[in-house]
Amino acid sequence: MTKQLIYLLLIAFALMGCKAFKPSADLHHFSSYFATSSKDSIIVGDRLKVTFFGTSTLLFDDGVSQIIVDGFFSRPKTGKVAFGKIRSNEKVIRAMIAKYQLHRLKAIFVCHSHYDHALDAPLLSQLTGAKLYGSSSTLNLGKGGKLSESTMQLYESGKPLGVGSFTVTVLNSKHTPPFKIFGKSNATDPAHPNIDQPLSQPAKANDFIEGGTFDFYITYGSQRFLVKASTNYIEGALQAYPCDVLFLGSAMLGIQPADFQQKYYNETVVATNAKTVVPIHWDNFMKPLGQPLIPLPNISDNVEAGFNFLITKTKAENRRLLLLQSESSVLF
Ligand SMILES: [Zn+2]
Repeated sequence: MTKQLIYLLLIAFALMGCKAFKPSADLHHFSSYFATSSKDSIIVGDRLKVTFFGTSTLLFDDGVSQIIVDGFFSRPKTGKVAFGKIRSNEKVIRAMIAKYQLHRLKAIFVCHSHYDHALDAPLLSQLTGAKLYGSSSTLNLGKGGKLSESTMQLYESGKPLGVGSFTVTVLNSKHTPPFKIFGKSNATDPAHPNIDQPLSQPAKANDFIEGGTFDFYITYGSQRFLVKASTNYIEGALQAYPCDVLFLGSAMLGIQPADFQQKYYNETVVATNAKTVVPIHWDNFMKPLGQPLIPLPNISDNVEAGFNFLITKTKAENRRLLLLQSESSVLF
């Protein structure tokens, strides 16, 4: 999320109601792919519960320990993102901690340091005691949030890490292709690719610089999961990481050229040979939790086309495609 996208949102305000700012998919067309609501799923035996909160926030819970990807709950509104400074919403985070018993949270893994992934990680760590794992940029957000050195750990790509009964391997990845609008791009400025010093909140959305993008290979017993938040790939990077369930970033997939879509599919779904594919990061993250997720707007995506592409491909290969609504849980 960068300056250009914020300009976009400004325009969105001005033109509210215009087709460009309506959701880019009708979720009724995909109702058969949504997991049946299992919000109250009880963990029995050695099963694992995964709960989705929009964007790429995923909570893995085995009934004893929990790990979370991103932990982005605040979802500040367009006005704050576009005009002002943003900060974690402590009330929202405390409510999530109570609702999901996040005192059992052991670790937070942040996909990259844009605010729609990293905003809440410092406060979530502070309130739960969970360790914050991240790039140097993410750890600078932690330092800005006054986290102690002992509650933060820098990523070591490719090195498996034990957390409770989970093993997590952080993998180098690549951010979604830059978003161009009115000739402007939201690409990371090569002169400032990282958050170089502690960043405290409130801060401008633009201050949350990407700082490198990462995927997570998570194993639990014999079960293998891969979380890939951004819609891009490093060629061959996932060949060595076969998985059962692939949480696949699909933001802007529907507006990419056909050859990119095919390559992305091959480098993710085919490379990991995932049996189940769960698209993530397709929702409009300016809307608060507590209501159904709605797809990204037409001006920035074509979620309908992205979903249809993934459905066609997975169906042809006998893979299961699963969609999750906000706060819906699946037992694996
Ligand atoms: Zn991003």
